Amino acid sequence: MGGVAGQLYFDNYSPVGDITVIATCFVILILIFTSYVNKTRSFYLYLNIVAYLMLAAFSDVIYHHIYSGITDGKYTAVYVIRCLYHGFLFSNLLLYVVYIVELQHLEREKKIPTMIISSGIYISIILTDIITTVSGTGFRLNKDGTAITGYNIFLYGYLAFVAVIIFLMVAYRDRVYKYVMYGFYGTMIVAFLILFLQGKHGQSSFTVVSFMFPTIGMLYLVHSTPYDIELGAINVAALKDMVEYNYRRKVELLFFSLYIPEYDSEGAVLPKTLQDSIRKFSTEYFHNAVLFQVSNAHIILIAKKKTNPDYENKINRILNYLSGEYDKYGFDYKVVMGECFDEISKNNEFVSFIKSIHRNMEANEIHMVGYEDVEQFERYEKILSEIADIYKGKNLRDPRVLAYCQPVYNIKTGKYDTAEALMRLKIPGIGLIFPDQFIPLAEENGYIHVLTEIILQKTCDEIRYLLKEGYEVNRISVNVAVSELKEESFTQDIHKIICESGIPEEKVAIEITESQTESDFIIMKNKIEELKEKGIKFYLDDFGTGYSNMERIMELPFDIIKFDRSLVLASGSDLRSEKMVESMASMFSGLDYSVLYEGVENEEDEKKCIDMSASYLQGYKYSKPIPIMELKRFFSKVEESV
Ligand code: C2E
Ligand code: CA
Ligand code: CA
Repeated sequence: MGGVAGQLYFDNYSPVGDITVIATCFVILILIFTSYVNKTRSFYLYLNIVAYLMLAAFSDVIYHHIYSGITDGKYTAVYVIRCLYHGFLFSNLLLYVVYIVELQHLEREKKIPTMIISSGIYISIILTDIITTVSGTGFRLNKDGTAITGYNIFLYGYLAFVAVIIFLMVAYRDRVYKYVMYGFYGTMIVAFLILFLQGKHGQSSFTVVSFMFPTIGMLYLVHSTPYDIELGAINVAALKDMVEYNYRRKVELLFFSLYIPEYDSEGAVLPKTLQDSIRKFSTEYFHNAVLFQVSNAHIILIAKKKTNPDYENKINRILNYLSGEYDKYGFDYKVVMGECFDEISKNNEFVSFIKSIHRNMEANEIHMVGYEDVEQFERYEKILSEIADIYKGKNLRDPRVLAYCQPVYNIKTGKYDTAEALMRLKIPGIGLIFPDQFIPLAEENGYIHVLTEIILQKTCDEIRYLLKEGYEVNRISVNVAVSELKEESFTQDIHKIICESGIPEEKVAIEITESQTESDFIIMKNKIEELKEKGIKFYLDDFGTGYSNMERIMELPFDIIKFDRSLVLASGSDLRSEKMVESMASMFSGLDYSVLYEGVENEEDEKKCIDMSASYLQGYKYSKPIPIMELKRFFSKVEESV
């Protein structure tokens, strides 16, 4: 930079470099505003960097332009614009430092000295530039238009900033994903190379150009990268590509999947320290491993088997780390790992495969995949496609959905006059399927509501039949999933089926479990109130299995509280638990709720429950779930009771 003394300054300047910069900045802006970019704080900093780069290029062009047009030796305007030009370039460097500090999430005690030093350099350069120019000791022009470089503060300032930037990038390189860092180093090397070549050729047209390369680098590496720059993970689409690519080339892959349910919600982010460690183990323990992020809470690491022959060792190190982390934070995890199976890779079903394994896993379990998982997965897929077909068909009497039921014993009358409807599926080629195998699947995929409608239809059909035959039917309850309540038409759908069956609304009850969140609770309350008004009864299902919020329960107009089998078991384990169950039950019955005990298996259970304020009893002691058509065996006819 700066001309050689005694030479006509504009001789070695051409505006091509600066015009290229201005044009490139426009292209960057067009790209930014026409593609998806995260609007983070660093993004706004980035926009400023681009703006200063354009201003610098623009002032450089103007400066040379007026300078070459002056013939009377009055160069004040030239000096002013030259100082401005330097100001813009150094503002750019200062912003670059701020930007890096932001990306690296430097702590206050590291950030403040960095900012003080950089601002100090910035202010001293600008001041020195102005003072040396005014005092005539710096850059100046002779009457004939030749330039004298004088005291060249630009070079020292530039080197000082480069030193700060390199220091940050080396000292805190671990804060950002390794390959993103490499990208930055690469673009900086290109920038230095350009400056070096320009100096070697006595040129001055490419100074601003050299500033442009890191700016382009940032756009790609940070703002439109497929990587999460802290974790170093790529998204799921890329995972599918990788699995497919390697399957076609017969390359054997290993995978390691980590799922932390606690973070499985919108906006949740893994703790910083955990991200740091994941980034570390993915790049340092494995050769050529790639990390994919399926969701906020789910990451999958994929590596080639051939380049990681000692992978079991590596996985053990990761597992050790995880259990250490568990002791520290107490988050639950599910780990699934092993080799990729062709059956799964072939159809690109990797993520759903892992999810299907999660379904059968307890918290903090580590699962090595085996061929039986593939079979289980294929079974799930088959069930899922059948449910999808049932959903599409919307036939409320679909023969594949079976209504089973369990009679409920009424202590007061000593009779069976209510029952719970329970769903089963009968799928060709598989046989009878129990709820644990399909209810979660149906819920995850949004098919559950149609299944409920079918069970309700079949239950109503049976109630109508029993009533017509003169049986005493108090009511039959149907299970509804909390997620269903969110369906816009829930209330109408339920009411329509009951009405069209021509049975009184109070012959049907809905069983529902507690809501987990405040928003679910509000939806639940509204829906329950709407249907209650029409006469439909409500049961609180599985009381005692979760964290109950008494205040919320009391706010909902339930008719019956169903005590889960776990409470029946607990009451038999020790005196304190027995007292607790007993007092909860007596509290509910004191408040006009009826208490129903589930899972009564023998006489001992029965006796205990009767002593603990029971109104209803349900369990294997009375009957296993039976096809709903057999229910009449348990119910009595009206005339018999007269
Ligand atoms: P749930 O609502 O708690 O249903 C009671 C479960 O306990 C039934 O299992 C029943 O067979 C079982 N059970 C009954 N008596 C005893 C006993 O004495 N001892 C023991 N250990 N278990 C007993 P099932 O039929 O496998 O249903 C499991 C779960 O699936 C149900 O739990 C319910 O949450 C869900 N489910 C069943 N049918 C439907 C449905 O139509 N819709 C929805 N959304 N969920 C359903
Ligand atoms: Ca139930
Ligand atoms: Ca239950």
